[in-house]
Amino acid sequence: MYLVKTPRIIQSLNAPVYWRFPAKEKTLYLTFDDGPHPTITRDVLALLKKYNARATFFCVGKNAREHPQVIKQMQNEGHQPGNHCYRHESGFQTPSYFYYKSFLKARNYVDSRLFRPPYGRIKPKQAQALSKKTHIIMWDILSGDFDQNLDAHKCARRVIQSAQAGSIIVFHDSAKAAPRMLPALEAVLKHFSKQGFIFKAINPNEINQIKKK
Ligand SMILES: [Zn+2]
Repeated sequence: MYLVKTPRIIQSLNAPVYWRFPAKEKTLYLTFDDGPHPTITRDVLALLKKYNARATFFCVGKNAREHPQVIKQMQNEGHQPGNHCYRHESGFQTPSYFYYKSFLKARNYVDSRLFRPPYGRIKPKQAQALSKKTHIIMWDILSGDFDQNLDAHKCARRVIQSAQAGSIIVFHDSAKAAPRMLPALEAVLKHFSKQGFIFKAINPNEINQIKKK
């Protein structure tokens, strides 16, 4: 069981971790985890282009190593890559030394100052250590595209009903999620574009400004 919105109580890790961004304007932050995938990520890029949307891709280091040309394409098209560990390790189950090693190894293939812990599972100690090297980005809206009990329509509805200005929304550019993710993504892009929202990539420089305040 998982929730569409993250309850406040687990939103505290004692380190600067971002669950959503303050937004004065109608802005949404789409994020895609677990790629890059040679075809599915490109399908996502094509959809984003169609709606003039930018997004952030939290890439598994091993996949980034295998498909560097996909990373190059997302950067050329104005999107931000982010680090998602080398082998998608859970911080809860990985001794911290190996967790940091995985983060550093992934960084060889994904040059980014953004990091999302796989499964959102990171120990407070790990979050404190990594927050000195990178911005840790969580989310406030889960599309549920990984859940085979949902269909694309339900995934889209979860996002449409819950997202608000500044929300960070999770999708997955993976083979498992694609049948739900691609149609749900298009529905979300269509709905919020019509409402005057813009979709931005997370900009590590803008996060620095938030921190200073
Ligand atoms: Zn992941």
